[in-house]
Amino acid sequence: MADTMTQTAVLILLGPPGAGKGTQARMLEEKFGLVQLSTGDLLRAAVAAGTDAGQQAKAVMEAGGLVSDEIVLAILKDRMAEPDTRKGAILDGFPRTAKQAAALDALLEEQGMRLGAAISLEVDDEAMVERVSGRYTCANCGEGYHDSFKKPAVAGVCDKCGSTDFKRRADDNAETVGARLAAYHEQTAPLITYYEGKGALKRVDAMGEIDRIAGDLAAIVAEVTA
Ligand SMILES: [Zn+2]
Repeated sequence: MADTMTQTAVLILLGPPGAGKGTQARMLEEKFGLVQLSTGDLLRAAVAAGTDAGQQAKAVMEAGGLVSDEIVLAILKDRMAEPDTRKGAILDGFPRTAKQAAALDALLEEQGMRLGAAISLEVDDEAMVERVSGRYTCANCGEGYHDSFKKPAVAGVCDKCGSTDFKRRADDNAETVGARLAAYHEQTAPLITYYEGKGALKRVDAMGEIDRIAGDLAAIVAEVTA
């Protein structure tokens, strides 16, 4: 058996829309030399490059089908064989199911890699709904406001340009944000259970200061990639 600590570690980042996953993943890339592998990007790249798996994916997509786990895993395998993943990778968008997680474990073992951790960015649903659904902007200059956290100095008048015209994004309402969070929890619950069962789940409080969250994440990554 290889010494596990010398094996390349793969991290899985889980978090609902609005939890700051993209921002945090970029920080980890810079700090640790990790490569973020997003399934959507990988698929597009493999199709463009015309690899075997990419050609299979293209045929499926052109027929209007869903790309199978096997094809996604083949594309992931090709990508992880490239030298820039030597220091480790952060997976984004895969796995989405416990079945995919088990298949990923098998792939990592076959590749001589290991799962570093599955990191769950945890949010307070009520606070997220308040944060996102309270947002609005000045229709004239685009200045951002919030019902609770950043009101104009004079009610109904933009601080920056004096306009009285404001707008809200249709999908930034409490119902839509709540539904997105519910869908996320429903989809992710089996994965959380899976990784918890393996002792690989790490939870990070993703509410609050970006720097504190980044610090918590960095401590975990330093520990599991050391
Ligand atoms: Zn304005």
